[in-house]
Amino acid sequence: MSNFTPMMKQYLEIKSNYNDCIIFYRLGDFYEMFFDDAKTVSKILDLALTKRDCGNGEKAPMCGIPHHVVNQYLYKLVSFGFKVAICEQVEDPKLVKGIVKRDVVKLVTPGTIDEFDEISVNKNNYILSLYIDSTNLSITYSDISTSEIFITYISELNKDNLINIIEEELIKLSPSEIILNANILNSIEKPLIKLFKSLSIMFTKVDIDPSFKSIKDNNLSFFKSNEKNEVLLYSLDNFYKYVCKFGIKLNNFKNIKKFSIDNYLRIDANSRINLELKKNNFNNDINGSLLGVINYTKIPMGLRLLNKWIEQPLIDIERIVKRQNLIEELINNISVKNELESYLNDISDIERINSKISFGNCNAKDLLNLKNSIFNIPMIKEILLKCGNNFSKISKEIPDVSDIYELINTSINDDVGISVKEGNLIKIGYSTELDKLRNSKVIGKQKLVEYEVEQRNNTGIKNLRLVFNKKTGYFFEVTKSYQHLVPDSFELKQTLTNANRYKTDELINIENMIFGSENEIVEMEYNIFVSIRNTININIKRLQLLSDILAFIDVINSLTTVAFKNNYCKPKLNNIGILEIKNGRHPVIENFLDSINQFIPNDTQIGESNNLVQIITGPNMSGKSTYIRQIALIVILAQMGSFVPAESANISIVDKIFTRIGASDNLYKGESTFMVEMKEVNNILKYATKNSLLILDEVGRGTSTYDGLSLAWAIVEYITKYIKSKTFFATHYHELIDLEQKFCEIKNKHIQVYEDSDNDDIIFLRKIENGGANKSYGIAVAKLAGIPIEVINRSKSILNQIEKKELEIEDNIESICEDSVNVEIIKNLENINIDKINPLEALNILNDLINILKKN
Ligand code: ADP
Repeated sequence: MSNFTPMMKQYLEIKSNYNDCIIFYRLGDFYEMFFDDAKTVSKILDLALTKRDCGNGEKAPMCGIPHHVVNQYLYKLVSFGFKVAICEQVEDPKLVKGIVKRDVVKLVTPGTIDEFDEISVNKNNYILSLYIDSTNLSITYSDISTSEIFITYISELNKDNLINIIEEELIKLSPSEIILNANILNSIEKPLIKLFKSLSIMFTKVDIDPSFKSIKDNNLSFFKSNEKNEVLLYSLDNFYKYVCKFGIKLNNFKNIKKFSIDNYLRIDANSRINLELKKNNFNNDINGSLLGVINYTKIPMGLRLLNKWIEQPLIDIERIVKRQNLIEELINNISVKNELESYLNDISDIERINSKISFGNCNAKDLLNLKNSIFNIPMIKEILLKCGNNFSKISKEIPDVSDIYELINTSINDDVGISVKEGNLIKIGYSTELDKLRNSKVIGKQKLVEYEVEQRNNTGIKNLRLVFNKKTGYFFEVTKSYQHLVPDSFELKQTLTNANRYKTDELINIENMIFGSENEIVEMEYNIFVSIRNTININIKRLQLLSDILAFIDVINSLTTVAFKNNYCKPKLNNIGILEIKNGRHPVIENFLDSINQFIPNDTQIGESNNLVQIITGPNMSGKSTYIRQIALIVILAQMGSFVPAESANISIVDKIFTRIGASDNLYKGESTFMVEMKEVNNILKYATKNSLLILDEVGRGTSTYDGLSLAWAIVEYITKYIKSKTFFATHYHELIDLEQKFCEIKNKHIQVYEDSDNDDIIFLRKIENGGANKSYGIAVAKLAGIPIEVINRSKSILNQIEKKELEIEDNIESICEDSVNVEIIKNLENINIDKINPLEALNILNDLINILKKN
């Protein structure tokens, strides 16, 4: 170290304190990175890698970023999961000899980046704090750019469902950063960290503080409400403690919203991905997802709210109906919809502007955007009054913010720049003091002109002229030919080839008058701006309410647009378990088809005691997956409050949706296809209830035929007997259709195909019908796909041979069924405690046993 240059020594010392960060080290107009930081960053940001002498003969790899464009680079690095420490000069270089002191002035991480404009406006950027002890979990999550905080607590968990719930929340919220309490059991921590890494989410461990100092220090209203739940408070306290380090002021957050995950439709992590709710699984784009279809929002905060509605559909019928009724009202007033949209189009992201106002980092342009947004409010209120009772109510809830409009309109210039420290912010007439200063600047400039004329006359120097230089101010310039006329009062400052430059005492006086007032003006403008910002901040609750209502209207309008455009219906809702859909369609796939290949709608009816589990058979490519997914998507849309793609629907509210779809490897978890499949099924069998909706597609496909068939068989039996969820079980094992005979709860359905027996071809009709398919048509589908005819013919002859053998297997299956009846009877008998039952109970048991036999 001793041989390093002083600068390198300083750098290495700072780096040693921030080892987990990339150091942006300020050198002049650049932020420089050295050593490994430089190597990493140059690759990611595509910067030239150079070298810098370290003083000891070594050359350090180095790369740099101009300071004025730092934000865009910072955002990119942070979104790649890096922590950045920004290291600035902390002394005035003019006042020190030797090396200027530098220090880290700011840390930036994915969840705390406050360069809001750089963050994708379409989704929230969440930071999530988890507190976990052996059986309890609390979650605090917040989007700093919108000042929201949500908090929840879940108890009585075991290791399995604890990790499931966390995974569900991670997939739901896609946070960019996680805070985790440090003292977690190893057996829980290990899989969790694996999960975070697989999802590329940065995490930091934080020690808990039983005195809750951070909460108390911040004097938060939440704490005042005497919340006694320690588990809940730990995740909140850790969150505060962590973000405080980033200079984030906590009292500016909106009210903390407490929620319970059981108040929303639970959709497990796999189903969220499988159903392509917010992004497609092909290239992770919003196009091709459910969100892509229903998004017609006009304002970023509306789109963020629509994301939330998809993330958390409701289970409370009253809340759902409220949303439905608004959509209905707007459809009935479709003529005013265009007008409403034209005003919504002119609304800025006021949710984020509000946040910037309360964090004290908004600029004058933000205030102008706020003003221009508020300008539209009276018109929006008027339109809503025309739409009907429900919208009238909302119209009346919109707070009056005309005072804020007036304040900005009278104070902020209409053509401001981004900087708030360069003047030109405040309108003339807003502050008499500021106008006085501006006046003295004008007077100074007038004086300057008069003085120039006066000196030209007095000296007789005809071409005497004033020149201005940004660094050194005003001069008189006299060409060489007039040098003899220069009076003694002119002090020579600069010699040029053809002329000399002079200053006089009076010139300096006038200059001071101009510059002094210029500086004072800039300072005063800034101070006035800050006081305007503070005044608005005092009223921030009204603006937050305004922003919430506008986002809500935007989402309702978006759902109205899709309902109108795609001809959706208003579903009825019930709590008695009945799910009925007439002519339902897949909301995403129907958009990809054209008028020749139209989407074929299908009916669904499930939920009666003799119709709880449906086994759907049909050849590959016939439309089984599409059909069962469309049911899940229709239920999700209905519980969001949206209309649904169907002619009519009566939807029973479900508590959870589980799907086991497709045979995809879960590469991010490093597990094989079949293992993933079985883990998903395990999750379903453990946590589904009779109020859940199960969508199972080709379960058992990932292993050998008989293994797979047996597992599929046993799984359907288990669901039918013990769980009784509404279940759609699509399968190519047509053997499963025999189960309909064994259980009254099971119904067979199949997707119709037209068989052209002359040339062994099939045509997909896409229509769901009662009864099972007795063939899988695999070879016909292969023929459709263009497989060489030799292969097709050969496979037909192999099939013939196998089918002969299958007859034997069917006999076996009969015996399996009988076995299962025996097992049930034996179980019943074993449960009898002969010493404790009375004759009547004995008779009842006998009756049950007879019924089991009769049923089977
Ligand atoms: P399976 O699950 O039976 O193999 P899919 O559900 O994957 O079949 O459907 C295959 C393709 O058939 C889909 O990609 C879609 O293009 C088309 N399809 C499915 N259902 C319909 C329908 N109801 N109307 C029109 N086309 C459909």
